[in-house]
Amino acid sequence: MRIPIKSVVAFASTLLFFVVVVCFASNAPAKAQLPPHPAPQAAVVVEPQPVIQSMSAEAPVPAPTPAPVPAAPRKPTYNSCNVDSSTVAMTFDDGPHPKLTPKLLDLLKERNIKATFFVIGKCVAEFPDIAKRIVDEGHEIANHSWNHPQLTKLSPTAFAAEITQTNEAIEKATGIRPVVMRPPYGAINPTLTKRLNEEYGLSVILWSVDPLDWKIRNSDHVSSHIIKNAAPGAIILAHDIHASTIDAMPAALDALQSKGYTFATVSELIAMDRPAAPKAQSPKATP
Ligand SMILES: [Zn+2]
Repeated sequence: MRIPIKSVVAFASTLLFFVVVVCFASNAPAKAQLPPHPAPQAAVVVEPQPVIQSMSAEAPVPAPTPAPVPAAPRKPTYNSCNVDSSTVAMTFDDGPHPKLTPKLLDLLKERNIKATFFVIGKCVAEFPDIAKRIVDEGHEIANHSWNHPQLTKLSPTAFAAEITQTNEAIEKATGIRPVVMRPPYGAINPTLTKRLNEEYGLSVILWSVDPLDWKIRNSDHVSSHIIKNAAPGAIILAHDIHASTIDAMPAALDALQSKGYTFATVSELIAMDRPAAPKAQSPKATP
């Protein structure tokens, strides 16, 4: 009796499909139990996908969904994030400023851009309505200390007061308790980072793009530096207390949008962070 070739092919295809499914299923639990930093494993998990898809046309059994590439474990400190898309985070420090912060909020609203504001606690206490507007318009509000000292030079008690009073002022004005903070001048050490992470639940946010807008009060310089140095996952530093910085924003934001960049808050960018080779890193983080 002759067995039609089509039947042999169909049988072999189905058999191969089940072998692939069984191999894939038996691998999955082992990988789920591996410790964090699973960059190499992530590639292995994704690899079987094309084989299963090519077989699914002949096999009625639904293919198992491959595990998504896992998010990176939350880090103590971020200079930038490793993301799959052209997303950046604009960050503005040292406000709220009574005139310039509202002007910036108008510019951001016109462009439907969300940013992160690292605010000074005593300025929030002075201008709570502006802090509230920051949150009401979908931006992230974050801790930048009460009085902008170098935190590394403070006693443990004074350090705690800088963080706690600012968190309380922000919460009173907006109802939001911050989850990220930026140390003034970027001055930080491992002991303070650990305290911020563990006692206050705050990740330390530095930056990967710095136009030095506090020093070079020239809007063309600020916008061109940002446009030139932006990269996927970048955290861009600016200050909403200088008129030249606000004047730089229309050109900088419009150019980034026309280059295909989208904007996320810092916490949104962190949620997109992936444990793979960094695409945008600060010079400090490069070995
Ligand atoms: Zn500052």
